Amino acid sequence: MEIINPATEEVISTLTEDSKEGIQAKFESLSKGQIEWEAKPLSDRIEVIEKFSELLKTNIDKLASVLSEEMGKPLAQSIGEIKGACKRIKFFLENSEKWLSNEVVHAEDELQEVIKYEPLGVIANISAWNYPYLVGVNVFIPALIGGNTVLYKPSELTSLTGLEIQRLMFEAGVPENVFQTIIGGKEVGKVLLELPLDGYFFTGSYNTGKYIYEQVAPKMVPCQMELGGKDPLYAADDVDSVKDVAKAAAEGAFYNAGQSCCSVERIYVHEKIIDEFIEQFVKEVESYQIGNPIEPGIFIGPLARKPQLDFLKSQVDQAIERGAELRTGGNIMDRSGYYFEPTVLSNVSHDMSIMKEESFGPLIGIQSVADDKEAISLMQDTVYGLTASVYTRSKERADSIMNKMNTGSVYWNCCDRVSANLPWSGRGNSGIGATLSHIGIRAFVQPKAYHFNGPQ
Ligand code: NAD
Repeated sequence: MEIINPATEEVISTLTEDSKEGIQAKFESLSKGQIEWEAKPLSDRIEVIEKFSELLKTNIDKLASVLSEEMGKPLAQSIGEIKGACKRIKFFLENSEKWLSNEVVHAEDELQEVIKYEPLGVIANISAWNYPYLVGVNVFIPALIGGNTVLYKPSELTSLTGLEIQRLMFEAGVPENVFQTIIGGKEVGKVLLELPLDGYFFTGSYNTGKYIYEQVAPKMVPCQMELGGKDPLYAADDVDSVKDVAKAAAEGAFYNAGQSCCSVERIYVHEKIIDEFIEQFVKEVESYQIGNPIEPGIFIGPLARKPQLDFLKSQVDQAIERGAELRTGGNIMDRSGYYFEPTVLSNVSHDMSIMKEESFGPLIGIQSVADDKEAISLMQDTVYGLTASVYTRSKERADSIMNKMNTGSVYWNCCDRVSANLPWSGRGNSGIGATLSHIGIRAFVQPKAYHFNGPQ
């Protein structure tokens, strides 16, 4: 399998994909290892993960450049991602004991009712490339702390990062029969679905998620899905500063070249402020530096996937054909690497793919709305349900709009934000189940109800 740098289109490495037999052997080893790993005191598992986090910090420069070179994320954003992953790990280190300890929920005379939390067993983590550290630690860290062993399949586009993660896990003291990285693409991922694993935790697109969910269903094991989105942002007419909101919205839409699951994917602006909003928004987008992600100051790098260039172009062309106005960008860039011009379209509508289908690139449509009612109706006109954000001076106004959103997360005066303290979940085609928060700690264990009846 060739690893290609999306900024230069050069082959930077060649890896051997895992074979079916190799994956089977890894699974058998993890099954044996799980029994010993679960038997360790929780504090021992926490200690090893703490060491892993320290190693992420001490190796950060190398890890960031590997990530930037294989998937095109600007270096500063790669460093930011690894630091963010360490913050999430800290949450798990500090909170797991509380949420995984036995709970006496009722005691009366000689009866004691207790919940104990047992690991699921051997789990699969099939992951995406856009934030390999962040979406990875959401799963494999609480899974390991909870006493599971993990078959970790990074995306084929971030295989080198996946191998770095494995290297540091082993260096931290995670045994080789507790964590194993699987290298390969779709076909390799399918092999995991054939194994009798005890849980499947997937991050990726809706289409793949749906396929995996269907394949896993007869196994009757937990199957969680963190999928894509078409996340809306609404700027109401009473915002304190149109300029500040436009700047924040642009960053939410264009960070990581728009390749975030919770990127702002469509924008609705109150008609009273839309002209100023578009002017400020375009000014901000045109100030972004585009180039090789390993160079300093670059905000927009290449896309990770070449085929996405044609998809974005088709969204732009269709929108223009149907009456949208191109404010900036609009084209695949004439240079080596998978670069697409940061693109802003206005006068868009919901009969255009750009307002309905996940773009996952540096591309945004801005639509005018007459009032909150119209904004709510358009924001809710989607099969996805990951996040939605509202910018307004009034918390009350925001709250009433946020209440009506059928999404896993809602934001007031912020966007494109994930916190380890809160559950991360999608509704509809954005997924099922939650990671992060105490809910994401408990996602990797199963409760067992103990009924103790007798003198104690
Ligand atoms: P993808 O669905 O193409 O691939 C995800 C993973 O699934 C990869 O490891 C891939 O090799 C594997 N895979 C592909 N086909 C498979 C199959 N048939 N059986 C088993 N495994 C298979 O997604 P991607 O391009 O890596 O990621 C981008 C998508 O992920 C976007 O839609 C994005 O919004 C979403 N995402 C969601 C979240 C979230 O938290 N909700 C986070 C990050 C990314």
